[in-house]
Amino acid sequence: MQRTSFWLACAAIAAVSFGANQSVSASAIKQTKGEFEDKFRQLDEVLPTANVYRSAAGEPGEKYWQQRADYEIDVRLNEELRRLDASEEITYHNNSPYTLKYIWIQLDQNIFRNDSRAERSATFGSHPETDLAGIDKPARVSLGELRRQQFMADNELGFAIDKVGNGDGEALSFTVVGTNMRVDLPEPLAPGAQTTLAIDFGFNIVEEDAVGARSGYEHFADDAREGGNDIFLIAQWYPRVAAFTDYEAWTNKEFLGRGEFTQEFGDFEVSIDAPADHIVSATGVLQNPEEVLTDKQQRRLKEAETAERPVFVVTAEEALENEEAGTDERKVWRFAAENVRDFAWASSRKFMWDAKGYQQGGDVQPLVMAMSFFPKEGGDLWKKYSTEAVIHTMDIYSRFSFDYPYPTAQSVNGPVGGMEYPMITFNGPRTELQDDGTRTYSLAEKRFLIGVVIHEVGHIYFPMIVNSDERQWTWMDEGLNSFLDGVAGREWDPSVPWGVEPRSIVDYMKSSVQVPIMTQSDSVLRLGPNAYTKPAAALNILREVILGRDLFDFAFREYAQRWMFKRPTPADFFRTMEEASGVDLDWFWRGWFYSTDHVDISIDRVFKLQLDTQDPDIDWQRRRQEQADKPVSFFVQRNEAAGSKTWVELNSDVTDFYDQNDRFTVTNKQRNAYQKFLDKLEPWERRVFDRAIAEDQNYYVLDFSNVGGLVMPILLQMTYADGSTEDYRIPAEVWRRDAKNVSKLIVTDKEVASFAVDPNWETADVDIANNYYPRQIIQSRIEAYKSKRDKDHISRDLMQEAKTKLKDESDENNDDEN
Ligand SMILES: [Zn+2]
Repeated sequence: MQRTSFWLACAAIAAVSFGANQSVSASAIKQTKGEFEDKFRQLDEVLPTANVYRSAAGEPGEKYWQQRADYEIDVRLNEELRRLDASEEITYHNNSPYTLKYIWIQLDQNIFRNDSRAERSATFGSHPETDLAGIDKPARVSLGELRRQQFMADNELGFAIDKVGNGDGEALSFTVVGTNMRVDLPEPLAPGAQTTLAIDFGFNIVEEDAVGARSGYEHFADDAREGGNDIFLIAQWYPRVAAFTDYEAWTNKEFLGRGEFTQEFGDFEVSIDAPADHIVSATGVLQNPEEVLTDKQQRRLKEAETAERPVFVVTAEEALENEEAGTDERKVWRFAAENVRDFAWASSRKFMWDAKGYQQGGDVQPLVMAMSFFPKEGGDLWKKYSTEAVIHTMDIYSRFSFDYPYPTAQSVNGPVGGMEYPMITFNGPRTELQDDGTRTYSLAEKRFLIGVVIHEVGHIYFPMIVNSDERQWTWMDEGLNSFLDGVAGREWDPSVPWGVEPRSIVDYMKSSVQVPIMTQSDSVLRLGPNAYTKPAAALNILREVILGRDLFDFAFREYAQRWMFKRPTPADFFRTMEEASGVDLDWFWRGWFYSTDHVDISIDRVFKLQLDTQDPDIDWQRRRQEQADKPVSFFVQRNEAAGSKTWVELNSDVTDFYDQNDRFTVTNKQRNAYQKFLDKLEPWERRVFDRAIAEDQNYYVLDFSNVGGLVMPILLQMTYADGSTEDYRIPAEVWRRDAKNVSKLIVTDKEVASFAVDPNWETADVDIANNYYPRQIIQSRIEAYKSKRDKDHISRDLMQEAKTKLKDESDENNDDEN
């Protein structure tokens, strides 16, 4: 657009429709036919149609249903063989409106079989690089990967299913399909009916360090430093009923390792038969403390309920004693858990155990026992922070959702870096034993422990209670949970970099290895940024920039409460957040969850305009001045400098009218036209016009372009000539007619010196350099380097190398010069 046309447009607006100064004329839109993309198109055509099970408001519908499965399990841990043998009885309640002829059961341990779908479909990402002269670089395989292959070749893994029967002991036919098993029912199971399955099973426990699983055992070296013994973290360990849902019927996507679990709620009674010197932690509440704990330990557990700081139920000394003594005796630990979607446990003679009551009040669960189980390797890090972090998590998460509804919340140390189950979590960080006998830990390890405990305990809310479908959508639990663990982390200690802020996702969002967040879990590229950081950053932006804390927190809490102990889908989340906040968010879900666009808003040009007075004696004098302010032609300047005279100067006796009058000369014709213009104004128009002229404000027209494609609000900051600043937030809807280029008129009393877009990095804008007008110099660093000598094999001095002596072990500390 031309500068003059802005003048005319402004004058026209002033004369005709000043009040509508934000209107966009058709000519302002630069798109041409066929290029238009409506980034604000509603999502309804993408989301599933609302029905009686799931409403258009994102609520459970009037006929919402879900299945239920209750379990009674007796399991025996064979420590020598590192094997579990068990029998279970599943009571399955068919709450669906459909008759079922068979029940699908999940056999997750089968993922470790050599012929599993996961194993056979695993791809290899490394290639040798060759050139014409031969192989330059070999392909690479990690020793860890070789260890995994060797472990899987050496051990018989996966479930041994010894018997499948009904409640009366009658055998039922079953068919194993990878990690799933179909059990055929002798009679179809009618709506509202229930049936019982009895399954005897066993499996060899995997070594977690070897296969990198979500459960398994860890063996500590049999030396004085580590003291031998194992920690067993047991999960995905019993044949679990597959989910049967209103939106997918039976969940039949196999367990490939990445997409986690889709579960039904139920009650559990589990008896765990373990070596007598083991301490067992499990989902639920211990039913027989008098049989497995000493009187002293039971008293300490009681004391812990009201303690100021965690109390040891099993002390470090008692754990050490267990580690050293050894026994052939056994004890049976009995646990019960109500309304949980899974059951996990841990067992080791290395465990110490601390506990502290979390008095949350209310009538749902006024007292929750926060507890930690860890070996001596956990050290002070665990003693000081694990149980406290469990409580901090409940404190923060409950504010965003609901009171913690279970009687226990546990953190267990072991080989799994971080994994969640109802009431129990596995967390990996540890201390390092130094040569002087002390145990130390790095700041990163401290942050890791507090962060992972918050994250995994947070998962007890999402997805263990708000039961989203993990097999399909990793982001629904990891994204929401990472958002909240960031909130909880910053309320623990804001000086620690917790991540999941808008700035944390910038590098990923401009990279090419992306798929939309709305991609099935097993197909996602780069799971961490895609399913954790990006949705978490998006929710931060939704809360802090788009909705504000009040609207966001209300809607998020509404989502959590609507879907507590139920099974939400992505549509239910999107719809609830929109419906409860009362703000159209379809564009936000589209941009952040369904596309790989990124945020990059550029402020390209700024025009400063002055309103024409229409009075020719004023306006034409302004134009004359503007002309005079322009640089004089360099031809003229150099001719003058050279002292050359023009024809006009040399012939000053020859003049005419135009030597006295320039092109800005005002005539009465113009003055009459001005008077006519004023006379034709309605009284109200005249008042508006006179006031605008008198105020003579600054009219700025700002041209923005959307380089990244993601439509977002423009967070504008104006710095005035007097040094003061003002924020001016332009909603995302500014892009609704043209998602690529928009212009905005801003009228100010004071003169603006500079404009900045998103100066506080709130929107994940990937290129800060184009956020300033005028542009800023980018401050960075340059490093001088010393070039390294070419160590190519051609330059090896073999003659000299050949003199090197062979080292023996006593030389271990000597530097190898070659
Ligand atoms: Zn997680």
